[in-house]
Amino acid sequence: MSEFPDSASPEPGREPNRVPLPRTRGTGLRQRLAELRGPDVPPKSLDARALAALAANPGCERRALLDGAGVDKAKLAGALGAPSGFGQSQFAFMRGNAFEARVKADGGAELLRLVHERLDPRAEPPTTGVVPDLSAVGPEGRAARTALALREATGAGVWTLLDHPMVALDVAGSPAFLEPDAVVVHPDGRWTVVEIKSFPMLDGSADPAKVGAAARQSAVYVLALEEVAARLGTPPQEHAAAARGAGEPDTAAPPAPAEAPGTAVPAGAPVAHGARTGAPEVSHRILLVCPKDFSNLPAASAVDIRKQRAVTRRQLARLTRVEDIAAALPEGTCFSPDLPAAELTTAVEAVPAAYAPECLSACDLAFHCRDRALAEGAVTSLGRSLRSELGGLTSVTDVLAAAHGEAGDPRDPAVAMLRRAARLRAEALDGHPAGAGASEVREGAACR
Ligand code: SF4
Repeated sequence: MSEFPDSASPEPGREPNRVPLPRTRGTGLRQRLAELRGPDVPPKSLDARALAALAANPGCERRALLDGAGVDKAKLAGALGAPSGFGQSQFAFMRGNAFEARVKADGGAELLRLVHERLDPRAEPPTTGVVPDLSAVGPEGRAARTALALREATGAGVWTLLDHPMVALDVAGSPAFLEPDAVVVHPDGRWTVVEIKSFPMLDGSADPAKVGAAARQSAVYVLALEEVAARLGTPPQEHAAAARGAGEPDTAAPPAPAEAPGTAVPAGAPVAHGARTGAPEVSHRILLVCPKDFSNLPAASAVDIRKQRAVTRRQLARLTRVEDIAAALPEGTCFSPDLPAAELTTAVEAVPAAYAPECLSACDLAFHCRDRALAEGAVTSLGRSLRSELGGLTSVTDVLAAAHGEAGDPRDPAVAMLRRAARLRAEALDGHPAGAGASEVREGAACR
């Protein structure tokens, strides 16, 4: 996350923006977060993928603080001696960029055609699309320019393609600036997020895990766009009525579609949009564009992201405010990757974490946090479902002591369950004492 000027400066000759931006953090907090990053360490921007991962583990104050302060977690993990295994190969990166450029060529003609075909077949087909210039100084300037372009496009009644717009989302009290691949404004004023990926779509379907990740990422964009729409507050009914024409069915109206959220849906199906609050509508179906059958030709599918949006919104709302976490840290705490590993370890360990095996596929610090969780014998390393079953027993030592009758209240359901399991195990082993399994349990935990 970056430190940015408090207000966007309009470019020379450009109309000054009057669309309000989300509230920004105070100078004191900015200063504190800059100190946490370290002197002269530039902030790392949060992207939608990181936000989706952050929302997936809202109980982790460590990640909330590091992301909120713009700390580069990959560099931090390397400096701690536990580098992450993330990253995209240079070849895949270039291939993805080339595919995206192809999809958006000719003023986005093919992309607009796909949006029309898959999401809005009853609208006028796009003949020529408008592609507004979104360039501005800094992320806040770009976000303001995007909001202005969205407002103009919403009332224009023509297909409009916003190429790499910038939107801001308030995350734990700090604005995160996000850049979707594209946002299309329909003639009826509706906004649709477009996500362009380089994984293939084979015979019309793609890897469900990758589609799910794209849906979670898009849900973050949709939430950010809904904040922009709420600030614009243009009555949607007027746009919709004007664009659709008299007597044409209102596809934006309930009832909700029958398709399962997170799955591809057929073209022309009824669309459930955001609540009619007097703001422009942000579609809850996004367009996923991928290479068709390993070729360089685009194939597209509509994906319903209502479930991902609801989950992400709930999780982001639970994130502890960054300033509260920062205030609890000792004076002088710093996460600069230039510091010695021992000093960095002390700083990182000063912030409570909530490790779970899912971190391994979502966070750069996963190897460091996993080592710590295993060293402490924390049951979180065994998975969230087991952790919740064990109630107040937070370490493997506590669990084994409870199972062997050495500790724990027998009226505690978790303790009673463990003792029953230990008894059954001993019986199954035909006379072998339950304690014989203790070392195996420890070994099992250590393997994770
Ligand atoms: S790896 Fe560590 S910092 Fe990252 S989410 Fe998990 S517990 Fe939090």
